[in-house]
Amino acid sequence: MQFGHLGIALAIASFDPRPETFAVVGAAQFLPNADSLVVRAGWAAPEFHGTWSHSLAFCAAVGAGAIVLFGAWLGGLALASIVLHVAADLPTDTGIPLLLPFSRRRFSLNLWQNTGYWGRSMYAGYYRQRWAWILEGAVFAVVAWRYAGALA
Ligand SMILES: [Zn+2]
Repeated sequence: MQFGHLGIALAIASFDPRPETFAVVGAAQFLPNADSLVVRAGWAAPEFHGTWSHSLAFCAAVGAGAIVLFGAWLGGLALASIVLHVAADLPTDTGIPLLLPFSRRRFSLNLWQNTGYWGRSMYAGYYRQRWAWILEGAVFAVVAWRYAGALA
């Protein structure tokens, strides 16, 4: 998922729309893809993207840290955000090794082709795939519904 990650962060933040919520939930949403910066820096092979930072162990560690730093409510929203990032990546055909470091088995819903991380994928055809539009459309429908309710 690409722009959909932004939508997921906005949808979660709608439950408590304060600046600090947008910051913490947004950071948690995009943190797993920071592994692409490690790849770009040349410190890891391209295959490193979508592995360790997308594992449930990483989610649990970041969620626990967020709860310690920000308390149960905001930390819990951060945990939901990072877990939903990983869930949103599950349609990728290459799959996500959710159980690292215990297992390298990859889990996938196999709805779209992996076109690489943010930036590269725009040119590789992510948005030429039907399920990308269906699922990201659903995410932004939820965002519209959540904020339309807030404005009413
Ligand atoms: Zn990701």
